[in-house]
Amino acid sequence: MQFFSTRGEGPVSGAEAVINGIARDGGLYAPSSFPVISREDIDDMTDLTYQERAAYIMSLYLTDFSYEELLEYTTKAYDKFEDADPAPITKIDENTYVMELWHGPTLAFKDVALTVLPYLLTGSKKKKGDDTKSLILVATSGDTGKAALEGFKNVEGTEIIVFYPRAGVSDMQKLQMQTTSGENVHVIGIDGNFDDAQTAVKTIFSNKEIVAKLREMGYELSSANSINFGRLVPQVVYYVSAYVDLVANEEIKNGDEINFVVPSGNFGNMLAAYYAKRMGIPIKQLIVASNKNNVLTEFFSSGVYDSNRTFHKTMSPSMDILVSSNLERLLYEIMNRDANKIKELMAELKNSGYYTIEEDILNDKFSEFLGYFSTEEETVECIDNVFDEYGYLLDPHTAVAMSAYLKYLNETLDEDTPTVVVSTANPYKFPQDVYKAVSHYEEADAQKAAKKLAMFSASEIPQQIKELKTKEVVHSKVIAKENIADAVFEALEKDGDK
Ligand SMILES: *Cc1c(COP(=O)(O)O)cnc(C)c1O
Repeated sequence: MQFFSTRGEGPVSGAEAVINGIARDGGLYAPSSFPVISREDIDDMTDLTYQERAAYIMSLYLTDFSYEELLEYTTKAYDKFEDADPAPITKIDENTYVMELWHGPTLAFKDVALTVLPYLLTGSKKKKGDDTKSLILVATSGDTGKAALEGFKNVEGTEIIVFYPRAGVSDMQKLQMQTTSGENVHVIGIDGNFDDAQTAVKTIFSNKEIVAKLREMGYELSSANSINFGRLVPQVVYYVSAYVDLVANEEIKNGDEINFVVPSGNFGNMLAAYYAKRMGIPIKQLIVASNKNNVLTEFFSSGVYDSNRTFHKTMSPSMDILVSSNLERLLYEIMNRDANKIKELMAELKNSGYYTIEEDILNDKFSEFLGYFSTEEETVECIDNVFDEYGYLLDPHTAVAMSAYLKYLNETLDEDTPTVVVSTANPYKFPQDVYKAVSHYEEADAQKAAKKLAMFSASEIPQQIKELKTKEVVHSKVIAKENIADAVFEALEKDGDK
């Protein structure tokens, strides 16, 4: 399998795509074709563990790795999860399932890919005989940062710097990052929102002088954001595996269609579901759920992508994004891999914050996608109702997805397609909001809110949240977004972020 940049460059191998993170022309790497998973393959996979399914599916894309190598990576990565299955499915209603992707070390779905990525990156470099150090730059809307820090801390040959929007992440998310120990980790706040952080990081990647200077120091830049193909491919796995699980548990027959509902921000998670569909998994509707930052909802209903709008801070901060990077990969597929067309659209986005897709293409090619958004009030109501009705706690991101699903059901008569709502975070990452939603009492202190939530819902506070109380904040630096390059060099001189 070869990979091409969505803006034309290539081809490169899977290992090169993982090492580079983003193509030099600014595009994202996409596979030259979609491997096919047949009905028979689905049946065969019912007997495999998640780790084996993951190694198999990844081997279809990353053909320069052997199945044995990939199985070693997935086994080691998912040993860090609570249970043997990193993506358990719970049935909460006749046709409704929730896939919980947050049983990893940082309690968010980012762990499913970011526990594997360090193995893929170091493995790729070994294959290429590349002995440079990797400098991983990360822009985070809250969860990627901590998951990347956990994945890469103390990994030999790597340095990792995470940039988070200072006022744009939850208390727990911020504390999780600021308390991360490790020889090679740096965490820096940016005065601005996630888009500012993401844009600042992208400017480092495309600044030839900075790249050259880093190279002189022995560092090659890499990305742990979902622009890296190495992030995407472990995410494709759980969509395939969910289908296999439903077949194995006789919830559906092999060949039946299902829907997925995905709470979306940078669009990496949803894109992985689309890849699974293109590989042959029978998926009917891909439901894209957004919060009040509803740029994707507008795009899927009108073909207009307009990032010139008010940025809203919401209780689902990991979805507070106006420029969804991975949409570029979807456009590339929809436009029949016409890199020139993608270049045009992305130039328009850069220059005017805006682009439009022709209506016939929208109606023709995007029909499998449906976008819905939820207001803050609707999100709260959904957490409250689902807890009342099923005794099941949703975090605010998952509640945005559940609320989108309910809207879809209201609009779609006689819809009884089995539907998997993708749950992306443990509710204890957002204890104040979740506690308030279910109890109607306020508690501003995060640890106290976690305790009260535990009592109210008769559930347990995860160890990772409890231990934050006693951990020391070791990274407290905050910078203006213009100073990101200086901050990178200071961090590499060690202790620059302390
Ligand atoms: C990152 C994140 C999302 C959004 O996922 P994308 O792949 O960026 O669309 C949703 N929920 C949670 C909890 C997240 O951490």
